[in-house]
Amino acid sequence: MPIVNRIADFHADMTAWRHDIHAHPETAFEEARTAGLVAGLLESFGIAVERGIAKTGVIGTLTGASPGGRAIALRADMDALHIHEKNGFAHRSQNDGRMHACGHDGHTAMLLGAARYLAETRNFAGTIHFIFQPAEENEGGARVMVEEGVLARHPVEAVYGMHNWPELPAGQFAIRPGPMMAAFDIFEITVSGRGAHAAMPHLGIDPIVAAAQIVAGLQTVASRNTHPLEGAVVSVTQIHGGDTWNVIPDNVVLRGTARAFVPAVHDAIEPAIRRIAEGAAASLGATARLHYERRYPPTVNSPDETEAAAAAAAALVGADNVKRDMLPSMGAEDFAWFLKEKPGAYIWIGNGASADPAMLHNPHYDFNDEILPLGASYWARLAETVLAK
Ligand SMILES: [Zn+2]
Ligand SMILES: [Zn+2]
Repeated sequence: MPIVNRIADFHADMTAWRHDIHAHPETAFEEARTAGLVAGLLESFGIAVERGIAKTGVIGTLTGASPGGRAIALRADMDALHIHEKNGFAHRSQNDGRMHACGHDGHTAMLLGAARYLAETRNFAGTIHFIFQPAEENEGGARVMVEEGVLARHPVEAVYGMHNWPELPAGQFAIRPGPMMAAFDIFEITVSGRGAHAAMPHLGIDPIVAAAQIVAGLQTVASRNTHPLEGAVVSVTQIHGGDTWNVIPDNVVLRGTARAFVPAVHDAIEPAIRRIAEGAAASLGATARLHYERRYPPTVNSPDETEAAAAAAAALVGADNVKRDMLPSMGAEDFAWFLKEKPGAYIWIGNGASADPAMLHNPHYDFNDEILPLGASYWARLAETVLAK
């Protein structure tokens, strides 16, 4: 795999950092040990460090050989997931019930490797901010960083992100301009009827039948309410109601998630869910109350920064190994909050170690250590190209 030679020298160190972080996973806004490790390493490389941003975030700031007025940000995420790891290797999680199942341990190690190289060489003009963010999973650590004024305090012309992608073979990258990942919303529908003896349903109003009709009706949000060529997903993921065989309950609670890429589709989903839920419930004499929350915006790459990122990747692996035609993912990414503020690009790095790799968020997942030097080399090449002297 073609990589920056000096970064190849760090492979063993990056692997050791990665294994250390993997063995000590910490979840949203609790990444104290991880942040301490990151800050200590950045300082040992001679990089100025700010700690405690968005509780546990760390930012390293490095100026190039010639200062210049330009600046970019490179971002990695540090948090783990609430998953019980099923791997048996030596670096498996020592925090039971928490696991680096999304590869943020690898993301952190790759950006640390790049920071060490760039601090040694400083072969760029301007300033690089290395953002190590907390709470990418569910809790929006990037949003909190933006709200705390990180980008106001560190004005950058662009911000770049990277995520490993197990379905993509190691040695490849994938990127596209425009939406790369979807907006992520959550919803809860409380369906209220009137409980009754299950043998005398005519004396009550059955919220379970209403909930069933609502679930069926919600399948038409994407199929009948949004443009057929624009992506939308509405998934009901929880149904809670009833306690026993012979009682119709008063209430049923449905929960789920919605996804979309473009504003016109995104904006159509909530009113469609409300209309279907309230209408279906009313048709049976029940009521439905919708609680809807927009969690993450879509992750949208800007055109120029996408080309810069693709070129940096192609310089390492060749243009054929930078996939430009992959479909965007309906998954979500809180890097979107940075891209809402600044131009930038988010790239996938192939993590596939075998023909049948464990997916992200799988209890058998592990980051592929073989790609650590490639990911770090991508960061280095990108920074040196964008901030060329
Ligand atoms: Zn994840
Ligand atoms: Zn992730």
